[in-house]
Order: sequence, then structure tokens, then C-alpha cells
Amino acid sequence: MANRGTTRCDFCGRSQREVNLLIPGINGYICDECAEKASQLVHEYLGKVNDTLLSDLDFKELPKPVEIKEYLDQYVIGQENAKKYLSVAVYNHYKRLSQNKDDIDIEKSNIIIVGPTGTGKTLLAKTIAKLLKVPFAIVDATVLTEAGYVGEDIESLLVRLLQACDYNVKEAERGIVFIDEIDKIARKSDNPSITRDVSGEGVQQGLLKLLEGSIVNVPPQGGRKHPEQKMIPVDTKNILFICGGAFEGIERKIAMRLNTQVVGYGASNHVSKADREKLLHFVAPQDLRSYGLIPEIIGRLPVVTNLEPLDRDALRRILVEPKNAIVKQYEKLMSMDEIKFSIHDDALDYIVDKAIEYKLGARGLRSIFETIMMEAMYSLPSLKKKKFELTLEYAQQQLESSNFAAISAAM
Ligand code: ADP
Repeated sequence: MANRGTTRCDFCGRSQREVNLLIPGINGYICDECAEKASQLVHEYLGKVNDTLLSDLDFKELPKPVEIKEYLDQYVIGQENAKKYLSVAVYNHYKRLSQNKDDIDIEKSNIIIVGPTGTGKTLLAKTIAKLLKVPFAIVDATVLTEAGYVGEDIESLLVRLLQACDYNVKEAERGIVFIDEIDKIARKSDNPSITRDVSGEGVQQGLLKLLEGSIVNVPPQGGRKHPEQKMIPVDTKNILFICGGAFEGIERKIAMRLNTQVVGYGASNHVSKADREKLLHFVAPQDLRSYGLIPEIIGRLPVVTNLEPLDRDALRRILVEPKNAIVKQYEKLMSMDEIKFSIHDDALDYIVDKAIEYKLGARGLRSIFETIMMEAMYSLPSLKKKKFELTLEYAQQQLESSNFAAISAAM
């Protein structure tokens, strides 16, 4: 404490004149340098604590694939295949992290999910993130370009992961990254030498380094690397990558491949019955290759699964079944005003029909629902009503009087 009238740091004993800043506490002082050292110690200590936590992942406590899928079922309708593949991949990832280092090396199985947009890729990723015991990040491949061009360096994909665990590198090195829109870095033409393909093959080569496991230097803020910037080295050996993409038009490649096989193996019925939409079921690594992914990348994504297009029945279930289904959300919103909300079956059908008519899929359900409910949400809280029934007539009237058709055309 204060010594013969001179105020001193209670940690190093230096006087006020010898330091830049003395920070007063209840019963003493700390100087700027000691405060900084203390802060460093705290970070190092917490870093160690986190490491221990991770290596101590109690395998027996972790959810089994069936439990992971049951959790996904609460939020994602259908997509059975993808849910199973994801559950197994996450579970195996935990196994790899918990394995004894001298044992057989369990290799990681990165996944690629192929499916039309708006069928639940991001939803699956976000839902599984809530359950995970390791850091998780969702990133978008569309921003990536080859080094030297406008866009972001491939290493920037790992920045989100670092951010998800407060830049604790050890923790990030065991995380999971979901790379969305991977189809956007497919090679644009079969002959890459004609024009520079800055967002295609070059980026895939960069991505390969990440997928196969190497030490990459990550720019801490993302974006482009600058020579003077301090980089964070991250080992990607244990990072699990889940890739997703719409791969629009890939059905044609699948159909072509299947037809050749049919001729070859004489299993004609099986394939000719498969309608266009169901073709995605048969997606295989060769199709991704014909689409423009390089074979080395495909080799690093050994598990290929698909998302189904959402039919009328699935869209209807999405409105009511998930834990946070839009109908449930409106029930909750209205109950806060002590109003009981209900919706007629034919009104539900109408909303689904409109989402299909405007080609908006599952994404459109919410906007249609909100447009229909706008007027009621505005006036009901001021009226002394105890219940609100959403009927077909009301839904039709509200949607028709709005300019939804015009807005949706622009969506
Ligand atoms: P994408 O496949 O393009 O990533 P999203 O996961 O972003 O599609 O889906 C858009 C929205 O549509 C989601 O936020 C969700 O509300 C709804 N949705 C899509 N597919 C499903 C599904 N299978 N189950 C429940 N909701 C879904």
C-alpha cells in the first residue's frame, strides 16, 4: 500500500513516477505492466483449462448417433439420410478426438451434402451446432478466390472457427466447419486453360490443403493476407469439414451416368422409374467430378449424401411440426396477449399451395404466413378478443389484398 506518503504498485513495488499508470483497488494499487502480466497469466491459465476440458471429452457421456438424430428430428423435417450421415460423422469425430494416440489412427470422414436450395442444409448445420461439444462455424465458399484476386483467401474460412472459441487455437483444431455453397467453386469449364478460372480450380487446390490436414496460416481478421500481418498457424488435421451445395443441374450428370450403367448392367426398370427429382438419391462422387470438383477434393470428401426436394406434405409439416414451427411461434406470440391462436387445415393447405405456386419452397412459408398475419398482429393486441382462428377465407383475403405476388416475383 501507500508507503511513507508515496503511492506504489502493490505487486512490483514501483512508485507512481516509475510507471505509466497506477490502477487503484479497494485496498491497494496495481501498475499497468503488472496488470498486463496478470492478464497474460489468466489467458494462459484459461487456455490450459480449455485444453484439459477438450482432451477430457468424456466419451461415454456424449450423445450416440441415434440421440443426435432424434435431436435433429425435432427441428428438421424429413431428410432422413442426411440426418443419419451427419449424426454418424459427428459421433465418429468425437471418437477420433477421444482416441488414444498410440492406437490405430481413425481417419476423418468429411461429408458433402448435395441438395436443392431451401431444403434444410443450413438448418441442419445450425441445429447440430447447438448440440456440439466442439467449436463450430458456418462459412460460405462464394467469397473465395485465388490468391491475388478480389475476394478472400481460402485460409479465412478458419477465422470463424477461431472466433467461435475466442481464438483458442488448440480448441479450434478439433472443431467442425460447415462450408456452404461448395458448388460455387466448381470448375467452370472442362478446359481451364482457355480463361483464368480464379474462383474455381485454384480455390479447390487451396481448399484441398485444408481438407487433407496441414498447418495453415490464418489471417486473424479474415479477408486477404497482408505480408506485415501476424498470422495464426492452425493445424487442420483434426478439423472435420462438412460441405454443402445445391449443385444445380447435377441431376443431368446423374441421369447420364445411370443410363450408361443401365445399358451395361441391364437394370433398366430401376432407373427409368426414378423421376428427375428423385435422381439426387443416386448422387455419387463421379457426378461431383463431372460437375467440376477436382478428384483430389472428392477424395477428401468420402461421404456423399443428399437432401430431398420438399414436397407438399413436407412443407405442411414444416409449418406445424418442428419445435420452433411458425404456427407454434404464432401461438406463443398471441398467448402473450392472452389470445388463443388456431389455424384451419384448409388455411394451412392454402399457404403451402402459395409457397409452391410462387416457387418459394420452405423459405416462402414464413413470408407468406407473416403477410397473412400482419393485420391481425397489428390490431388484435388492442382488441379485447380471447381467440383468433385463421380461416381459409381470412388467409385468402389478406394475401390477395397485399402486394405479396409482386414482392415474391422479385425474391
Ligand atoms: P438451404 O438448404 O438453402 O441451406 P435452409 O436450411 O436455409 O436452406 O432453409 C431455409 C428455411 O426453410 C429454414 O430456415 C427453415 O425455416 C425452412 N426449412 C427448410 N428445410 C426444412 C426442413 N427440412 N425442415 C424444417 N424446416 C425447413
